[in-house]
Amino acid sequence: FDLASHSSRKERLRVLEQIDSALRHQQMELYYQPKICFRTQSVNGFEALIRWNHPQKGLMTPDKFIPEMENTDLINLLTYWVLERALIDYKDWQENGINISISINISTHNLHHYRFLNEVDRIMAKYATCSPKIELEITETDIMMENGILSKLLERGFSISIDDFGTGYSSLAYLKYLPVDIIKIDKSFIGNIVEDSSDKEIVKAVIQMGHALGKKVLAEGVETEGSLELLKEMGCDYIQGYYISRPVPKEKIYEIISLYS
Ligand code: C2E
Ligand code: CA
Ligand code: CA
Repeated sequence: FDLASHSSRKERLRVLEQIDSALRHQQMELYYQPKICFRTQSVNGFEALIRWNHPQKGLMTPDKFIPEMENTDLINLLTYWVLERALIDYKDWQENGINISISINISTHNLHHYRFLNEVDRIMAKYATCSPKIELEITETDIMMENGILSKLLERGFSISIDDFGTGYSSLAYLKYLPVDIIKIDKSFIGNIVEDSSDKEIVKAVIQMGHALGKKVLAEGVETEGSLELLKEMGCDYIQGYYISRPVPKEKIYEIISLYS
């Protein structure tokens, strides 16, 4: 099951209809992956990653269905659904004594949707009493094409991370002015960081540059103890990856928090 292989328009429409129905029938679920802070040795936040519990195909990861949604209005529906679901989970954790930020992934199409800010305000207003801490992850290329919306999001108290840093196009001059808090180095630079000396140098340089610009730096895709140690030496602020934990269903976060506290 891969949307990209559904080449005919009719078939793609059918699959998009299925996604629409999945959103309405609770077949979508958020999994959470922790981000660990080197300084405090504790969980700094969780990234929400969507999964589709398909009745026939089982649990599907987003690479199977998100790309096809990107240019349709469904990606807006999906993002609003994700935001609200994350807020419900946030509130639930808060009631259990856990106050931890959640980051959600934002698509370029969302940033250009005329109703985006209105919808976000409408959803956030419902959860205002728990003062949720929500981070938005936006990829490097998308962030470069933003049109003033970032400052509006910051005014609303969201913090912003640049996702997949190193794989897109960004102008270093522009980066200086971008109101982002965290640079997430793409996992393609981290996978072989111990063996590959160019990856090592690139990551070192990004960490230094990020710090010089007053940003925090997170490394994605940390799978081994060796890479963790190296990143720590390099002064990286946060890490995320299978070495710490895979993305887990929301009930499992308690175990992770108790491991890192
Ligand atoms: P991403 O935002 O870069 O998320 C990180 C991806 O890397 C996740 O894949 C995660 O499971 C995976 N990952 C985490 N640690 C490791 C590791 O140590 N090694 C390796 N090899 N992979 C690791 P996932 O959950 O399949 O998501 C894939 C992409 O789908 C995400 O990439 C994001 O771009 C998109 N996505 C996921 N959830 C959402 C969503 O709610 N909305 C939108 N618009 N996009 C989403
Ligand atoms: Ca992300
Ligand atoms: Ca990423």
